[in-house]
Amino acid sequence: MNELAPNVFAVTGLGLYSVPVFVIKANENELVLIDAGLKKDAKTILKKIKNKWGSLDKIKKIVFTHRHLDHTGGLPQILKAIELANENSSVELICHEKEAEHFIEELKEYGIKPTRTVKHEEYITKDVKIKAIHNPGHTYGHICLLLEDEKLLLLGDTIMYISGVLMPVFKAFHDDYKQYKKSLPKLLDYDWEYAIPSHNRPLKITREKVEKFIKKMKKKK
Ligand SMILES: [Zn+2]
Repeated sequence: MNELAPNVFAVTGLGLYSVPVFVIKANENELVLIDAGLKKDAKTILKKIKNKWGSLDKIKKIVFTHRHLDHTGGLPQILKAIELANENSSVELICHEKEAEHFIEELKEYGIKPTRTVKHEEYITKDVKIKAIHNPGHTYGHICLLLEDEKLLLLGDTIMYISGVLMPVFKAFHDDYKQYKKSLPKLLDYDWEYAIPSHNRPLKITREKVEKFIKKMKKKK
């Protein structure tokens, strides 16, 4: 586990192009997972959480930035493992209200549905202030997660970081690229100092670098 801020961790040991998976310790009895990684990452995620917190039954919430399988593929295995660890345990599966129906479709073969949907600027939990920022375009219901006290923004697939360069996800993988470009600058309306992009090891990128990227994107078609 890589500690990014007090009570905010990223799972280490995932593949280079896997998406980062975060674990937030909301309180002594509650862990919040952000995204569930690729199917092949589930084992590592579970092992690292067990090593750090002793068991899996503290995982009470899993929040999804969006439905894509590189962010949700590990979920079936993770859910199974939590149920085995504690059959009384119920886990909230959370996504934005506009993502829910697509999420259900994406995970159809497993019959997994979100159990809670959130709106723009709704808090996931207030123990550690995690706010959902609806940033549509990559998918209609894509959210970034703002950790208010830590001034940290988890970008989901809004921005990737490949070979030292910030970039958008390839056009073909967006639900609506125009909407993506329009909603991108809105991330600067919030108070954060560092952001963590996708598809790389979890790295803190300064606000200044993200601002430059957004400026560059404004000029792009
Ligand atoms: Zn995606």
